Amino acid sequence: MPLLSDAMDDARIALKSLAERVEGLAHPTLRLGVTGLSRAGKTIFTTALIHALTRGGRLPVFEPMQSGRIARAELRPQPDDAVPRFAYEDHLATLAQARQWPSSTTRVSELRLVISYASLRGSQRTLTLDLVDYPGEWLLDLPLLETSYADFSRQSLALARAPARAAVAAPYLAAVAAAGVDGPADEARAREVAARFTAYLSACRTERLAMSLLPPGRFLMPGDLEGSPALTFAPLDVGEAAPRAGSLGAMMERRFEAYKNAVVRPFFRTHFARLDRQIVLVDTLAALNAGPAALADLERALDGILAAFRTGRNSLMSALVRPRIEKVLFAATKADHLHRASHDRLEAVLARLVERARARAHDRGAALDVVALAAIRATREARVRRGGHELDAIVGTPEAGQEAAGHVFDGTEEVAVFPGELPADPDALFDPSGAGFRGLASPEGEADFRFLRFRPPAGLGPQAPLPHIRLDRALQFLLADRLS
Ligand code: GDP
Repeated sequence: MPLLSDAMDDARIALKSLAERVEGLAHPTLRLGVTGLSRAGKTIFTTALIHALTRGGRLPVFEPMQSGRIARAELRPQPDDAVPRFAYEDHLATLAQARQWPSSTTRVSELRLVISYASLRGSQRTLTLDLVDYPGEWLLDLPLLETSYADFSRQSLALARAPARAAVAAPYLAAVAAAGVDGPADEARAREVAARFTAYLSACRTERLAMSLLPPGRFLMPGDLEGSPALTFAPLDVGEAAPRAGSLGAMMERRFEAYKNAVVRPFFRTHFARLDRQIVLVDTLAALNAGPAALADLERALDGILAAFRTGRNSLMSALVRPRIEKVLFAATKADHLHRASHDRLEAVLARLVERARARAHDRGAALDVVALAAIRATREARVRRGGHELDAIVGTPEAGQEAAGHVFDGTEEVAVFPGELPADPDALFDPSGAGFRGLASPEGEADFRFLRFRPPAGLGPQAPLPHIRLDRALQFLLADRLS
């Protein structure tokens, strides 16, 4: 049965893909996916991208804009009526009027832009750009399509027992031991184990641990499945033999398969398989701040992301249509937490993670690139005198309510902080016994500001360009060749 539904999925994707390409001959269209784990910066990036295309700005590296070939970009009704619209105007108002960050992505949303431009030869053209913003947690579910419940359980339990996670996993691991695979298929017990499993996954996402690889994605980002019975399963300590009929293990296995068929596969078909290009936002600094275990976990998550891009390429039908995702940009976000001198180094850290994942996967799929960026720059650079020395600092307004070294920020005061310097050789960061990364610190050296969040910059308006770091490089990689 799964084979049949795979083949039907493939046929549907192939047909839709062909239909979209025929349509694309008359009206060139590009579907760009924006993804990344929760709080990686998807909402801010998407807002900044739309603002840059519709209002312009300082984008020297984005050739079609810099050379004046883009005449205008306008918002238009999106093609899929059943998908929520990306709330661009609301997000911009929150940033500009309230000087606050807008609410983050929790589900799929879309927005369509039509860009009018002059080709390099001077003829007038349009490109329809469909932006699809979706949680990276859902992307990390795609490899589950090729994973059995037994393997999912083994991998999940090995992760939960690893030193970095074992402490927060203890209540869940105790529930697994108490339940047993061969125990009766009891609903209350299933709910209990699933609840503890979900609590363990959420605990792994806190800033201090900053773990990345936490499938199934809907447990953390349920979207419209919040509270649904589709999420009432969890990995158990399975043995080699298939679980006994009527046992808790058999019940969990059935639900895991139902999750794949009712949740993961439709997401793949309806959204993911139709993307042409993809930007994956990675809060690399959060992992660096949390330490080598978080970095190693991020690396495993990147393996999963590359595996997701291969999903659906290996079957007969998808071999008939070219693999759709042709370009992937990995972007380390929030680079405004570092001094300019470290931006290339941040890029080098992410590049190293992506290259290692790619080498392991023998991946020769889409064209990849890496950038470090701040979609909206919340800090500026300054030189600060300390003890007779001039030192590089960054200046920003910490969000109200955060506390450091006994001081509670009120959301109005500006502070100068010393951004930790990334090492010239990224290898130093991957060595658990090494010095690692010191992150943001107070000038007096007495406070650890690694997890400090800054408010958006003051003085943003709907017309004025948004300050950014290297957003133009991202646009150049993702869009420029389709505007030439
Ligand atoms: P999402 O969950 O991926 O949609 O994440 P958001 O785009 O909502 O970003 C999460 C948080 O990260 C925001 O509320 C900001 O605090 C922070 N953030 C995102 N982008 C930037 C940036 O360019 N600079 C700074 N300083 N903070 C950012």
